Amino acid sequence: MNKQEIIQADQDYFMNVFGPRFPIVLEKGEGVYLYDNEGKKYLDFTAGIAVNALGYNYPEFSEALKKQVTNLIHASNLYYYDVQAKLSRLLIENSYADKVFYSNSGAEANEGAIKLAKKYFKEKGEEKYEIITALNSFHGRTLVTLAATGQSKYQKPYAPIPTGFKHVPYNDLEAIRDAITDNTAAVMVEPIQGEGGVNPATQEYMQGLRELCNQEGILLIFDEIQTGIGRTGSLFAYEEYGVEPDILTLAKALGNGVPIGAFLAKDEVAQAFKPGDHGSTFGGNPLACQAAYTTLNIILNNKILDNVKDVGSYFYNRLSDLKEKYDFIKDLRGMGLILGLELEIEAKDIVNKVIDNGILVLTAGKNVLRFLPPLVITIEDVDKVIGVLEEIFSEKI
Ligand SMILES: *Cc1c(COP(=O)(O)O)cnc(C)c1O
Repeated sequence: MNKQEIIQADQDYFMNVFGPRFPIVLEKGEGVYLYDNEGKKYLDFTAGIAVNALGYNYPEFSEALKKQVTNLIHASNLYYYDVQAKLSRLLIENSYADKVFYSNSGAEANEGAIKLAKKYFKEKGEEKYEIITALNSFHGRTLVTLAATGQSKYQKPYAPIPTGFKHVPYNDLEAIRDAITDNTAAVMVEPIQGEGGVNPATQEYMQGLRELCNQEGILLIFDEIQTGIGRTGSLFAYEEYGVEPDILTLAKALGNGVPIGAFLAKDEVAQAFKPGDHGSTFGGNPLACQAAYTTLNIILNNKILDNVKDVGSYFYNRLSDLKEKYDFIKDLRGMGLILGLELEIEAKDIVNKVIDNGILVLTAGKNVLRFLPPLVITIEDVDKVIGVLEEIFSEKI
């Protein structure tokens, strides 16, 4: 099909939840570039929304997956798999946690984390089931995770939604303290709010949350679906703060594009799950586990975290220069390679102009330009993006 036919077929046959998309038909990826079906090339600073940590067709990754596809894709969790065992060991050895469970998406990882928190208190015979989350958070699109999400626009179309969630302002410890009742089971936050506008938690907030949850005997859940797997320059964002959660959720970059999510916990919490309490047909199948195992090994062995730190701070400084220069740039936020530029103008207009120049970038909300490039980008790639932004911004004044 040609471009027009493809877009027409989408309108004819696909449920219209995404609205009109960017009019680009992507066909192939190589390195940090995507190619459309008319041969046009795009420098990708979206990484499939923080998913493609290694960019496209990373040789070691492609080889491992090709081999896994011919060996075994799926055969259910009734049996054991070498690659699943190796992935579990690698994740546990490189995190604070003792146990892991695999899901197929971020929302499902959060659902599992919420179930585990509730089961933990059921086991103890305590009536604790409420979860406190932050305003402007994003935790997923299933009914429970949209109830957890602190943005009413996602909830309104589905009222009545599952109960048991309270939303309070982010980076506000007092608000959490005030919201805790005898029925509170957990506090769930993103170390950096991604969809909500690239809002990093402060050091005091993260430390305070840990102390508060300890004092109150409730669980702390970090949703690291966007910040995990190297995005901040550490394997997990909680390491940047030196604050460990009780339950950690992952997805996006974990499989470098192959759908896999996970939630992790210490033994004390994980033991609340007994046989039959949770499960998944696809979750942690050999293909997904091979993708995650290979991605993690590459990130840990090929100095990818050093690259995130170096190129991330270079990118931050260049964006900071732009902010100094242009009054309509209100704020620059983020860490490593999750960066947001808050504008006084609509971010969407800038995104469209950037695309015209052959570069893909994201928004977060109305006014924030969001950058989530593959973790393997170079300083030269950053210079290209800064050059294009500079050109577009200079026309605005
Ligand atoms: C993307 C995201 C989710 C949802 O993940 P899906 O795979 O789309 O279900 C949840 N939490 C955060 C922080 C996310 O960025």
